Amino acid sequence: MKKFADVILPLPLPKCFTYSIPEDIANNIKIGCRIIVPFGRKKFYTAIVYNIHFSAPEGYETKEVATILDSEPILLPIQFKFWEWISSYYLCTQGDVYKAALPSGLKLESETIVEYNPDFDYSVQLSEKEQILINLMENKPEQSVTLLEKESGLKNLLPTIKSLLDKEAIFIKEELKRNYQPKVEIRVRLTDYAKEETNLQKIFDELKRAQKQLALLMKYLELSHFHSSKSIKEVSKKELIKKTDALPAALNSLVDKNIFEVYKQEIGRLDTSEKPTLEINPLNEYQQQAYQEILTSFKKKNVCLLHGVTSSGKTEIYIHLIERTIKEGKQVLYLLPEIALTTQITERLKRVFGNKLGIYHSKFSDAERVEIWRKQLGNDGYNIILGVRSSIFLPFHKLGLVIVDEEHENTYKQYDPTPRYHARNAAIVLASLYGAKTLLGTATPSVETYYNATKGKYGLVELNERYKDIQLPEILPVDIKELARKKRMNGQFSPFLLEHVRKALENKEQVILFQNRRGFAPMIECKTCGWVPRCKNCDVSLTYHKGINQLTCHYCGYTYQLPRSCPACEGVELVNRGFGTEKVEDDIKTIFPEARVARMDLDTTRTRTAYEKIIANFEQRKTDILIGTQMVSKGLDFDNVSVVGILNADTMLNYPDFRSYERAYQLMAQVSGRAGRKNKQGLVILQTKSIDHPIIHQVIANNYQQMFASQLAERQMFRYPPYYRLVYVYLKNRNADLLDTMARTMAERLRSIFGNRVLGPDNPPVARIQMLFIKKIIVKIEYNASMEKARALLLQVQKEMIEDERFKSLIVYYDVDPF
Ligand code: ADP
Ligand code: ZN
Ligand code: ZN
Repeated sequence: MKKFADVILPLPLPKCFTYSIPEDIANNIKIGCRIIVPFGRKKFYTAIVYNIHFSAPEGYETKEVATILDSEPILLPIQFKFWEWISSYYLCTQGDVYKAALPSGLKLESETIVEYNPDFDYSVQLSEKEQILINLMENKPEQSVTLLEKESGLKNLLPTIKSLLDKEAIFIKEELKRNYQPKVEIRVRLTDYAKEETNLQKIFDELKRAQKQLALLMKYLELSHFHSSKSIKEVSKKELIKKTDALPAALNSLVDKNIFEVYKQEIGRLDTSEKPTLEINPLNEYQQQAYQEILTSFKKKNVCLLHGVTSSGKTEIYIHLIERTIKEGKQVLYLLPEIALTTQITERLKRVFGNKLGIYHSKFSDAERVEIWRKQLGNDGYNIILGVRSSIFLPFHKLGLVIVDEEHENTYKQYDPTPRYHARNAAIVLASLYGAKTLLGTATPSVETYYNATKGKYGLVELNERYKDIQLPEILPVDIKELARKKRMNGQFSPFLLEHVRKALENKEQVILFQNRRGFAPMIECKTCGWVPRCKNCDVSLTYHKGINQLTCHYCGYTYQLPRSCPACEGVELVNRGFGTEKVEDDIKTIFPEARVARMDLDTTRTRTAYEKIIANFEQRKTDILIGTQMVSKGLDFDNVSVVGILNADTMLNYPDFRSYERAYQLMAQVSGRAGRKNKQGLVILQTKSIDHPIIHQVIANNYQQMFASQLAERQMFRYPPYYRLVYVYLKNRNADLLDTMARTMAERLRSIFGNRVLGPDNPPVARIQMLFIKKIIVKIEYNASMEKARALLLQVQKEMIEDERFKSLIVYYDVDPF
């Protein structure tokens, strides 16, 4: 009977597509395998088999699966369930999840390359079309389908290509070509002839006059343990040549003499050698108690919040929990919000867990990520995976514990592209699919999480003692509004801050300066007429980067030359307004020319090693002053920082978002926590124009509870999370007027269902990105209402909209639980 496969394509399609499976591969195809299928007129895609069945779909003719890429599934059944949850909760397609989940080495979504088979048997009959293609490929053995269509002048080549594939005249080579390539090593071994002991003796005699060759042979015997009782070790050609100072020619002679043979061996990129070097630190009494409370909480609840002040040693508690989980034969997923943090934590974990630990993030090469993925599929997967948000998509066989460190961090939310998932919330769901537990850890919980913990939905464990009684830092506010009025500010620095930086430098102590904006000046402005340069694709002002002397759009990445004069009034005085980290660095270097200054922000950390370098230099006190964006605020552990300067609290407080106060509190409390670890109380200097702001008071008093209570009250009053779930509905179109009509129509329809819980349409803060105009509608859904029902209604409205002739060009997407 004919078999059919329902597949997930890496495209925003609302449902699975069905393909028929050719007889010859019908028995090899499995759920979770990747296959190549034709889609559209001329493209092949890598699809994932979602289901296999015998019933032909009604209403359309199925196309055939072109080829299978995997003999074994690359996705486990639980992962399918997880994908389903993500796509249904976050209102996106499984294809969107597929694109986000797999490392690019495992997916091909671009056009297929066909490759000519040089061993093709010419006696096979070819059709006229086929002959044309083969002639073209004889001259150019590898080309894309589009190119072939262009060069041959033929249309709709797919059936022809398929039949050439059947006749073994071509290969579909895309995967091997553009994706994952295994790493190979060239190795050397004795031929069967040379292996014979009597022959070997003869060879020794023969080589007496070829000293270099003899040396090579001797070295090989030593490296391979040839004459010991141990099993033969494989020897790489490079190593052998290096260790004997021989020329490759000498080795080639040995090959010619039928003594050596050279072969290729696939080797992994992952470092598997490291053995643990340190014992696990014993916990102090407070940590021990918190540890026990977590275990007790896990008996009743699936999720537990560890609310522990900065430097209380949460990481040590995690390490004990990890150890325990591994001993039970289960795996751990340890999530971090930021790559910047992985360096320090990796080192701490590597020392105790050695090669049981795997690390997964986007600064790793794609090939490495593919190898980690494959290792996780096997039975020897890592016991612990440490990674950023995308690691929730890795395969696990027996996940037992998920740790979400710094759970309050907004970088856990994927902002763009879809799926706009929140890794903390998704991780809790993932854990529950495995029957695993989730531990959320932070010094400054998100309002949502703390609410869940106080309501008893999550367990709650508080840890208020810092490790070894290190004091919390003293936080002193400085009124920069007043100072600016008296003209006493030195750029963005108060005299008070500069004085303490100077003192710290004198004492050989270190300083962290926090400015939550990168670049040089967030804005350039014409002093005469107020003109501000804006991106031509997006509705935002441009940021000035002094290093490259250019204006950059932080939304689309477009760069512009800085104009010499104002295009509006021809005035020549273009001034900086506001300042970013780059400007801070520039100014501080002028004020303290002898200080060693480093900067950590998105611009200085484009590579994996950049982070490691900046952090290692600071740890080893090769840097005196570290300037950074929120990257420096998170869980980094330094022991010689006596002063932390928060340059401007107001940009955080004034950010137009319902979470801005919570966020400002978290950032300030976290960055303060970097000050004065180990044997000295640190000092935090908090510069602000809003000295009487309640959040400033709460930060100074280290009063999380008060911040939580006041924020919670506001959230309830204004219908925000955790009382209401927000769904942002975004509408996009090239035509502004048409979009306006679309948005108003859709909002009306939504209002007829959800009533006054629908707000808008409004212009989002950035109302045009990459030439598309954008409108936003907000839907507030009561927390206890059924999300499933709401989702169905939303999708129904979307469907009705797009079915309307006028609105065919409408693009709709959603952001559920937006940040
Ligand atoms: P947190 O994550 O809560 O901010 P950390 O886990 O980074 O705190 O701990 C702060 C510092 O104290 C680290 O340098 C850590 O090595 C040290 N520390 C904490 N607990 C212990 C312990 N039980 N034994 C040894 N060192 C500890
Ligand atoms: Zn732009
Ligand atoms: Zn002007």
